This record gives sequence, structure tokens and C-alpha cells, in this order.
Amino acid sequence: MTRNRIRIALVGLGKIARDQHLPALAGDNRFELAAIVSRNADLDGVAHFTALEDLLASDVSIDAVSLCTPPQPRHRLAHMALAAGKHVMLEKPPGATLSEVEDLRLTAAARGLTLQTTWHSRHAPGVEPARVWLADRTIQAVRIAWKEDVRVWHPGQDWIWEAGGLGVFDPGINALSIVTRILPRPFFLTQAVLHVPENRQSPIQAELDFVDAVGVPITAEFDFLQTGPQSWDIEIETTDGLLKLSHGGSKLWIDGALILEAPDAEYAGLYDAFAQLVEGHASDVDVSPLRHVADAFLLGRRVVAPAFVE
Ligand code: NAP
Repeated sequence: MTRNRIRIALVGLGKIARDQHLPALAGDNRFELAAIVSRNADLDGVAHFTALEDLLASDVSIDAVSLCTPPQPRHRLAHMALAAGKHVMLEKPPGATLSEVEDLRLTAAARGLTLQTTWHSRHAPGVEPARVWLADRTIQAVRIAWKEDVRVWHPGQDWIWEAGGLGVFDPGINALSIVTRILPRPFFLTQAVLHVPENRQSPIQAELDFVDAVGVPITAEFDFLQTGPQSWDIEIETTDGLLKLSHGGSKLWIDGALILEAPDAEYAGLYDAFAQLVEGHASDVDVSPLRHVADAFLLGRRVVAPAFVE
């Protein structure tokens, strides 16, 4: 028996859509790329619309949309797709606010549609083995260092500096998506410092202190001004040794020995999960990384930083 493929539309044809979504879809025969929605770009051989409204009003049939825009327009687009009976995959962060993601969760549930909040870093190869290794260990301290050069990784992405664009939390939320998956207990913010350039709305650097339910300290340094070696590292001290996830979770080290390294398959993992959710008439909505970011914006002390000019 041949199963129907999921006819999917990509909305927003920017960096992540081209780098990751298109190859992942091309490599998964459960999906058929049925349309592109982009104000500025199209793809040979694929139906193209400049607005989601126009796609939904057309005779191009789709089952699902994958939203690859920045977070600010995400809720409007997702709500429109759900209202039209389409399953929805949300890039990270799943929205600009927690409330709007809750609205989407309720809307999808009421209509029996799939909604997926994706956290691609959780599909990095070291993450699940780290979670298993940590599950029955005594954790003493956690240190996160997520430091990258915004000029290299986010050229021209003005939305990142606008309200709702998250600034340095745009990559930092990936670290939070990993620790919310691998640590065995909930944790919460105790203090934060947010460095906001005088000409921007979002932080360029942040220092965060958390504590978990039994008092384990968790610190995070997010930096958008890192030049030279970049770091996307998480170190977890335990009574059985130091676990380190480096390169965004693609390498796992224990006490300095490389235990695991595997090629990137994060987006293949996301689309595999999405296909299973659609087939199982289920949703996966987890806002815990975004909740920590919201807490930082609630509790964090603002420091004015020098103007950022790209
Ligand atoms: P990007 O290169 O700026 O692309 C975003 C695309 O969204 C734009 O090309 C634009 O495409 C479309 N868009 C629709 N409404 C928009 C609006 N109001 N403002 C700006 N663009 C709008 O950004 P990106 O790096 O692909 O990031 C998109 C999302 O993916 C973000 O939430 C980001 O956190 C996430 N993400 C990015 C990366 C990465 O490495 N870059 C990695 C993982 C996740 P059209 O011209 O096609 O309409």
C-alpha cells in the first residue's frame, strides 16, 4: 500500500529554508514540496506565491505549512494556516510571545490538526546520549557558553534586532532547548544582565544565572560579538566526571574523551518527527526554552551597550 505524501508549503525562503528545510524535504519521500511563499524569491518548478493568503485561496492543494520566517509574523501565518485546515511546523522560536503559541496550541487541538514547535538543536547527535548519561548522575554545576559573531552568522537580518527578534537569544535559545531536554529537573532564572545596543531593541550579550529544583547552579553566557573561535558549548559537572556537549551538541565528551561525533541530521530529525505527528494525529508543543527567554526579559537588568552597526 502506498501512503499519500504530505504536500507541504515553505513560508519564508531565507537562510534557514535554503540551508536546511529544502535539503531535508528533498531527502524525505514522505513529503512533497508543493509551494513556496516568499515575497522576494521563488524556486524552479514549484508553485510560488508572495502571500500565504494567495496560496490558501488558490487551487494548489497542500496539507501542511512549514513557517521559516522570523518569529514576529509567525502567529498570524500559523493561525491562518490552521484556520484553513493545514498542519503547521513552526521554526524556532515558535512565536514572539508565549500567549500566541498557547493560542495556536488550542486552535490546533480544537481542529484536530498537528502543531509542532521545532527545536532543531535537540536533534543534534550528542543530545539524547547526554540526557541518558545524566539521568542517574549527581549534577553539581552547569555552564553554557554560546558565543558567535553576529556579523558572520546573521548578516542583514535586521529583524533579529527588532522587538520580538530576540537578539543574542536567537542562538541562545538553542542552548536552552538542549538543557531543557537533557537536565533531569526543572530550573529557573534567578538573575540576568542584558546588554542592549543603544541603537537597537534586542540584547547583543547576556549573562544568566539559573538554579534547579535542588539548588544546582546553571550559568549561561550568550555573546553575539565573539570573533575568532566560536563556541556553542555546554559543560555539566557531575560526581562521575565532566560531560561536555560542544559544536551545538554534535560532539559529546566525557572527562576530555570524545565519546560521540556524528554528521548533522537535525532537520531530517525534525521532519521525521513532523511526519510521525501528522500520521498519528498528534501535536508537540513545548515552549520551555522560550519561557526561559521570556523570564530573562522580565527579570533581566538592562545595560546600555555601544551602538551596533553591521
Ligand atoms: P532570514 O534569512 O532573514 O530569512 C527569513 C525569511 O522570512 C526572509 O527571507 C523573508 O523571506 C521571510 N519573511 C516573512 N516575513 C518577514 C518579516 N516580517 N520580516 C523579515 N522576513 C520575513 O532568517 P533565517 O535565518 O532564515 O531565520 C528564520 C527563522 O529560522 C528564525 O526564527 C531563526 O531563529 C530560525 N533559524 C535560523 C537559523 C540560521 O542558521 N539562520 C537556524 C535555525 C533556525 P521572503 O523574502 O521569502 O518573504
